[in-house]
Amino acid sequence: MEKPAAAGGRPVRDGKLFYGHQYIDDADIAAVEKVLRSDFLTCGPEIGKLEDRLCRLTGAKHAIVVSNGTAALHMACQAAGVTAGDEVITTPITFAASANCALYCGAKPVFADIDKATYNIDPADVARKITARTKAVVAVDFTGQAADLDPLLSLCHEKGMILIEDAAHSVGTYYNGRPVGSIADITTFSFHPVKTVTGGEGGAVLTNDDALYTKLKLFHTHGITREAALLEHPSDGGWYYEQIALGMNYRMTDMQAALINSQLDKLDAFRSRRKAIVKRYDEAFRKIPEVVVQEEIAQSDTTRHLYILRIRPQRLTIDRRQFFDAMAAENICCNVHYIPVYYHPYYERLGYKKGLCPRAEKLYAEMMSLPLYYAMSDQDVEDVIAAVRKICAYYRRDTEGK
Ligand SMILES: *Cc1c(COP(=O)(O)O)cnc(C)c1O
Repeated sequence: MEKPAAAGGRPVRDGKLFYGHQYIDDADIAAVEKVLRSDFLTCGPEIGKLEDRLCRLTGAKHAIVVSNGTAALHMACQAAGVTAGDEVITTPITFAASANCALYCGAKPVFADIDKATYNIDPADVARKITARTKAVVAVDFTGQAADLDPLLSLCHEKGMILIEDAAHSVGTYYNGRPVGSIADITTFSFHPVKTVTGGEGGAVLTNDDALYTKLKLFHTHGITREAALLEHPSDGGWYYEQIALGMNYRMTDMQAALINSQLDKLDAFRSRRKAIVKRYDEAFRKIPEVVVQEEIAQSDTTRHLYILRIRPQRLTIDRRQFFDAMAAENICCNVHYIPVYYHPYYERLGYKKGLCPRAEKLYAEMMSLPLYYAMSDQDVEDVIAAVRKICAYYRRDTEGK
């Protein structure tokens, strides 16, 4: 049996089998160039065009495009009325922004554990974590699979809470046949380069609720309005506007919007390629007893942003760290998504301790993200599978007769 290469031995191919990578074509470049040669670099026509398109794509009544996904989450919490002393429930297996948005509003993030098969937030644990101070739930569509939105929505509405869906991973995913973006009270997207569709940076907030939309819209431009219906004093003239609340500048540029508009022309191609890669990975890895694949709920028709491979440490003589290093030695640059949010020193200093969410912690110790992106060739996919097979075969723990 061939011994896997030693870690640090062979260099990782130059960016090639990284865990994720954007796909930019000539149409994308032309779209950005056109904006640069136009009159509007911000607040121009590409913004409205993208907002309309996101509404059509998702079925949401309103969309606001913003500077990034973190700004979108901050806006969502603010519009949900999250303030000092409130609690916001989210998952620990997410990018820190899903919890930081509660902190921005002076509220306390409360972590609910994940489902051990789907890795998404467990509605039953959310129910257990609700207190009189819980104002909102931030449910993350981890890896692109929709969180179990129906039970989460019933729970939130029963208790008068707002469901925010952090859909940074799930542009192009459907839940019960409906596109993500039209289901939760507020949905947020991210267009960071590793996500399915990119604007370099960028985000969006979507809602069907008119009152939430008004708050979101105000907060994303300084709390300033020109809308006659919102003005508190009579207009002074054509230049007149009023600041009626305290907001931020979370606007997106027209260069970003043009890039995202152009990327959305390729969404169907992005979806089908990502689905095909996931299908091939699942098929191959289900035959390897040393690893576990992420399970999906039937309700989610998923466009996967991340592919998580979970190892079974009891069947291997190496741990996740060594497996990860062995993959790197095979030229496969994995990553780990995510370090449980409350493990971070900032959260430790706020008083969070290990042990809060045992299923999330166990997953963290056993998982890594394999390369998954549009431009991967079939050979790249087979190279990843071959590396996993080789490492599992070599480091298989001999359990016969023990
Ligand atoms: C990427 C990401 C965000 C933040 O989006 P940015 O656009 O990078 O600010 C939030 N939540 C999750 C789950 C993410 O993966």
